[in-house]
Amino acid sequence: MVIKPKIRGFVCITSHPTGCAAHVQEEIDYVASQGSIEGGPKRVLIVGSSTGYGLSSRIVTAFGFGADTVGVFFERPSSNGRPASAGWYNTAAFTQAAEARGLFAGNINGDAFSNEIKQQTIDMIRDKLGQVDLVIYSLASPRRTDPETGEVFKSVLKPVGFPFTAKTLDTDKKQIAEHVIEPATEQEIADTVKVMGGEDWVLWMDALKEAGVLAEGAGTLAYSYIGPEVTHPIYRSGTIGKAKEHLENTAATLTAKGIPAWVAINKAVVTQASSAIPVVPLYISLLFKVMKEKNLHEDCIHQMQRLFAEKFHNGKPETDHEGRIRLDDWEMKTEVQDAVKSLWPTVTSENLEAISDFAGYQTDFLKLFGFGLDGVDYDADVEVDAPLDA
Ligand code: NAD
Repeated sequence: MVIKPKIRGFVCITSHPTGCAAHVQEEIDYVASQGSIEGGPKRVLIVGSSTGYGLSSRIVTAFGFGADTVGVFFERPSSNGRPASAGWYNTAAFTQAAEARGLFAGNINGDAFSNEIKQQTIDMIRDKLGQVDLVIYSLASPRRTDPETGEVFKSVLKPVGFPFTAKTLDTDKKQIAEHVIEPATEQEIADTVKVMGGEDWVLWMDALKEAGVLAEGAGTLAYSYIGPEVTHPIYRSGTIGKAKEHLENTAATLTAKGIPAWVAINKAVVTQASSAIPVVPLYISLLFKVMKEKNLHEDCIHQMQRLFAEKFHNGKPETDHEGRIRLDDWEMKTEVQDAVKSLWPTVTSENLEAISDFAGYQTDFLKLFGFGLDGVDYDADVEVDAPLDA
């Protein structure tokens, strides 16, 4: 069938198999162009491996270190002629490329918060790799079912303590508007921490350790975000920020238990998760404009390459005084933030395209679903079924 983008709010409900494969190949080519990375873990588990930062982490560890990988994700296969989700096609393309390179790439599709998926992952590691040397935890999810009680918790993106008038960009209509977002209740804060905090990270690491599939000295890495003042009420000081603080504190808890754990603070990029956060798409459009002008622009794959080639140092990461790896160092440069800050109050629906990189935002957004890739014939018939052992 011929597949075109169908955008509904901040998601695209179609995805293109050939385009997703081309996107994955672009990332692989970039990593290959940087040369192999000395040392580094050779057996890596990535939880949340099919899109965004998790996918790029998988690509860098496989094609930079030559690591065998196990990836866990929650994606939809094609059915009744309907395309699969982008992460499904990304994983199919990654697996093919990794296997062609002689690397093991095992895939587990299902709810990472469940005991069953943890057990399946342990069984696959034991069977195929023996143990893993590094665990990357890169989940972004709006809900979590507690594995013991079956209760479903939902995360919310709200300010804490006071209402916030958010300047937001409707990316579909190219309209900027101000919306008041009411503060979260105590229950909503707790629920968001339950979903996006560190509780499940600990459950993963305990289960892997107990099963004996963590190699001696194996470490773990999760991702977080801080960002500038304009996003603080909705991000860092909001419900998601409370969850991220919990995740960051969990690194210390894990380390104290004998599992070396770190959190990398990554920069803002366009992913399925970030496009759902109020304020963030507008901030990213302005940030991209400034960072591209200053020759500092990075996408997921550039960030992950810099993480593993420069900042992670084979288990001895370069950290700030709070023990966090700072990949947002370029985003948070004073010259970058001053420029974004001065543009922020002036941006309107009318001047959006002139003073921001909204075009770049849209290009990246479509690429997440395999659209707009060079060399892909979007008028050609494509097969929507993609084989994937998952
Ligand atoms: P993403 O939406 O691209 O990826 C989320 C991944 O989680 C996918 O592989 C998805 O399949 C998987 N997933 C979601 N729910 C699952 C479930 N129940 N079971 C199994 N897999 C599940 O998101 P992303 O933006 O790459 O986010 C990854 C991490 O990076 C998050 O911790 C996020 O906060 C962090 N981060 C993102 C940004 C950004 O700007 N996007 C910036 C800094 C940090």
